[in-house]
Amino acid sequence: MLVKNAMTSDVFKISSESSISDLIKILSQRGVGSVIVVNENQNPIQIITLRDIPKIYSHNLKDEKIQTLLEFLNKTEHNLITIKSKQSLILAMNLMNKHNISHLPVVNKDRKLVGILSMRDLLRHFPYVVFTDSLTKVNNRMYLDIIKSKLENSKTKKGILMIDIDNFKNINDKYGHLVGDLVLKKIAKSIKFSIKGYDELIRYGGEEFLAILYRCDEKNLPIIAERIRIKIKEIRFKKLTDLFISVSIGGYVMDLKDSLYESIKRADEAMYEAKQSGKDCFILWKQTTQ
Ligand code: GH3
Ligand code: MG
Ligand code: MG
Repeated sequence: MLVKNAMTSDVFKISSESSISDLIKILSQRGVGSVIVVNENQNPIQIITLRDIPKIYSHNLKDEKIQTLLEFLNKTEHNLITIKSKQSLILAMNLMNKHNISHLPVVNKDRKLVGILSMRDLLRHFPYVVFTDSLTKVNNRMYLDIIKSKLENSKTKKGILMIDIDNFKNINDKYGHLVGDLVLKKIAKSIKFSIKGYDELIRYGGEEFLAILYRCDEKNLPIIAERIRIKIKEIRFKKLTDLFISVSIGGYVMDLKDSLYESIKRADEAMYEAKQSGKDCFILWKQTTQ
């Protein structure tokens, strides 16, 4: 599928000579998430999103011109990421994932602005594909943005587990990448089996999985982590009888005060500690873990 089939053509544009107050009017009254700054040839220069609004107020810029705002935000035509309407949606998705952006201006072959592609547009067309890792069929890292506010606003504790395969490079080197891929698939299946249906499982990195367990505290988390670790150790391969796998797991209990990404960072620190203590074990994050 191509970008032009999923994009929104009705895009809000503004010139860099306009005032910031006009921009605020569009963003606040028209219910749009982004406005594209264009030059006299309708080429996109930059994009301003709702995320930029707090900075306008905190730096008292609302009586200035848009050009001043762009300079202040260090947004130049040079660093604007765009996509062509005839390029594939998969490419657009990869760009958004890589640069952590939610809106992509769409241009034609003359670099004229013809639309905008938002994460919402992608979601409307393929809710399944966008957030699914094609190898293991669990969610990918982009899915974290979707559940972030739900997790940060929920009042109960959540268990965060960072699960990293031990010596995976050696497995690839010894048995080949196809076997490595099979190991990843089996591990994803095994973790799913050890957690509840409504818990989250995300392929976080090449050989790292992130499990997010709802209503889970300091008492339950080590029990579930151990269950995951042992189940993975029990995985066997019919034709490769000498292949055994293990994982190192780091855990953190996310409370109401915690941000999701800070909690993940702590689970990752604990996982690193588990690697340092000889791998194939679980460590719960403590204030001293660093
Ligand atoms: P450690 O025990 O310290 O975690 O060592 P490790 O070898 O598991 O970790 P390292 O980070 O050195 O290597 C990770 C390897 O994972 C390297 C990379 O080739 C492999 N990998 C990442 N993604 C994939 C994938 O999709 N398929 C396969 N087969 N291998 C992958
Ligand atoms: Mg790793
Ligand atoms: Mg590893």
